[in-house]
Amino acid sequence: MRGVLLLALLPLLHCDRLAPAPAPAAQPAEAKVVKSEEEWRKLLTPAQFHILREHGTEPAFSGAYWDKHDRAVYVCAACGKRLFSSEQKFDSGTGWPSFWAPIAPGAVAPSEDTSYGMVRTEVHCPRCGGHLGHVFDDGPPPTGKRYCINSAAIAAVAP
Ligand code: FE
Repeated sequence: MRGVLLLALLPLLHCDRLAPAPAPAAQPAEAKVVKSEEEWRKLLTPAQFHILREHGTEPAFSGAYWDKHDRAVYVCAACGKRLFSSEQKFDSGTGWPSFWAPIAPGAVAPSEDTSYGMVRTEVHCPRCGGHLGHVFDDGPPPTGKRYCINSAAIAAVAP
């Protein structure tokens, strides 16, 4: 009889107060921008298309922003996502716009690039997937990172 009572009470042991608190609602994921390569080709200049969609690299000292030092926010040239700021821009001497950090954590996304017999970390726009450049470990403080970005992959807008 006592055993039957215990069995009857078992469901009550699953007390709500013992249940873990529900996880906080996740931040809504930013909507991705997805287009066919043909659509991108119509939207972008040939130089932008080559860099953003074909992982190209512009020649050093050739782009619009390597020597730009006034205040600006740099958005993705393909989808307009805010990626970098003049606040983290520095003169690397490389001929490409260089930043020691993106405008916010996670504003750009890394992936491994093994092209040309090198292992490098590529960075791309997390919203449209556009290739931006690479990140290296020889940057200045406080991060020691150097985001080496193609001018054609970004567009300067007022901060
Ligand atoms: Fe983008």
